[in-house]
Amino acid sequence: MASIALKTFIGLRHSTAEHNPISLSTPLPPSSTIMHRKLRVNASKSSPRVNGRNLRVAVIGGGPAGGAAAETLAKGGVETFLIERKMDNCKPCGGAIPLCMVGEFDLPLDIIDRRVTKMKMISPSNVAVDIGQTLQPHEYIGMVRREVLDDYLRNRAAESGASVINGLFLKMELPNSSRDPYKLYYTAYENKTGGSGEKKVLEVDAVIGADGANSRVAKSINAGDYEYAIAFQERIKIPDDKMVYYEDLAEMYVGDDVSPDFYGWVFPKCDHVAVGTGTVTHKGDIKKFQTATRLRAKDKILGGKIIRVEAHPIPEHPRPRRVLERVALVGDAAGYVTKCSGEGIYFAAKSGRMCAEAIVEGSENGKRLIDESDLRNYLEKWDKTYWPTYKVLDILQKVFYRSNPAREAFVEMCADEYVQKMTFDSYLYKKVAPGNPIEDLKLAVNTIGSVFRANALRREMDKLNV
Ligand SMILES: Cc1cc2nc3c(=O)[nH]c(=O)nc-3n(C[C@H](O)[C@H](O)[C@H](O)COP(=O)(O)OP(=O)(O)OC[C@H]3O[C@@H](n4cnc5c(N)ncnc54)[C@H](O)[C@@H]3O)c2cc1C
Repeated sequence: MASIALKTFIGLRHSTAEHNPISLSTPLPPSSTIMHRKLRVNASKSSPRVNGRNLRVAVIGGGPAGGAAAETLAKGGVETFLIERKMDNCKPCGGAIPLCMVGEFDLPLDIIDRRVTKMKMISPSNVAVDIGQTLQPHEYIGMVRREVLDDYLRNRAAESGASVINGLFLKMELPNSSRDPYKLYYTAYENKTGGSGEKKVLEVDAVIGADGANSRVAKSINAGDYEYAIAFQERIKIPDDKMVYYEDLAEMYVGDDVSPDFYGWVFPKCDHVAVGTGTVTHKGDIKKFQTATRLRAKDKILGGKIIRVEAHPIPEHPRPRRVLERVALVGDAAGYVTKCSGEGIYFAAKSGRMCAEAIVEGSENGKRLIDESDLRNYLEKWDKTYWPTYKVLDILQKVFYRSNPAREAFVEMCADEYVQKMTFDSYLYKKVAPGNPIEDLKLAVNTIGSVFRANALRREMDKLNV
């Protein structure tokens, strides 16, 4: 959840375009405004019309990225197929979502288990800082169970006209020309009670890969790999009197014991807490870090019973290639999780929607074929909007998660109300919070002070061999 005022870090530049050997021969179409609810597009384009039917797009994977993409496509007049291998998939996830997601994606409040208004940041030496003090009465961090959120988004896509298929995507045959279809091979489980399913083929004009960190769509287009963290989580049912403490409160633990490069968390759910941690650098020790996280929270979860154990990779950065011809990757398949906070739900749903909007726009509501330039419009907009957020969180992780003294300094900084306000504003609303120049300056000085103190402390500790 940690985020920070962008103004603290000046001199950030926009990334260069991703490496991609495919040349862009088609000029970019003129931009037009797309409203989410009324996806009616008036653009002039020279790509061929699709005759006798509308553009056909398959979305592989029905998590937040796939659900949001399929809904937007269907509303925009595209014939949409959403393929999800497991309809009751319970994605291993902390389930924390920012307030803006509730509004932007019209999420009903009854799918949100908890509204967290208090967050405790806990240092390696167990100094706890409360960091929700600047929240307004209507502001909160939403806590969802993924099986509930994903199901809701998929159902909404179906209500908007998408054909939702319960099937396992196996492989994709690439087309020989810009007008040929993509052939998708999958095992259909629809109307089957168990068994091995039925092999099927679906022909479509374009494909959105929303099939998560182990994306088969990414492999089909040789999208390349990314470094990843492994995250581990236990859902623990704790006694009711213990649950009262976590009513509207979440905890984040930092320290070498819980993770050398990430944080441990206790997030409240409807009737249990999710306790977890992650690491990129020491994946083999993940269970040791999980035990340490549980130990740190032990008094508060005493008497708890582990009801579910789960683990999953978290991408560390975007894949080298995210678009190839008429195939685009979104969400974890593309690698859109922020460092430092490990946040990916909002970015998955948002990238799914943005990619789908680019297709609706490029195809003039499903009437024309699209090409790579349409999908590159999505990439361009995405990078322009979110690159600074990723960069800042990357820097934060490098500065503050590298040693226990640095983490102590980080927690100390979190006590500052201005830091809290900027952090929450940028997390909750996914926008650069407008800063106050004097407070920004104070914050910059404090940040430098904290880093110096951390370095000095680390040198002392090194001398003592601690
Ligand atoms: C332990 C843990 C804790 C996390 N905590 C948070 C948090 O608190 N807040 C936050 O914002 N982010 C969190 N994240 C990150 C977040 O879970 C992901 O960024 C997010 O789920 C990405 O959504 P997605 O739709 O791109 O992919 P996914 O949610 O992974 O969805 C992919 C979907 O595709 C389906 N699929 C995969 N392969 C196929 C196939 N071959 N055929 C058909 N279907 C297929 C899967 O069943 C799945 O439903 C956490 C991650 C982990 C591992």
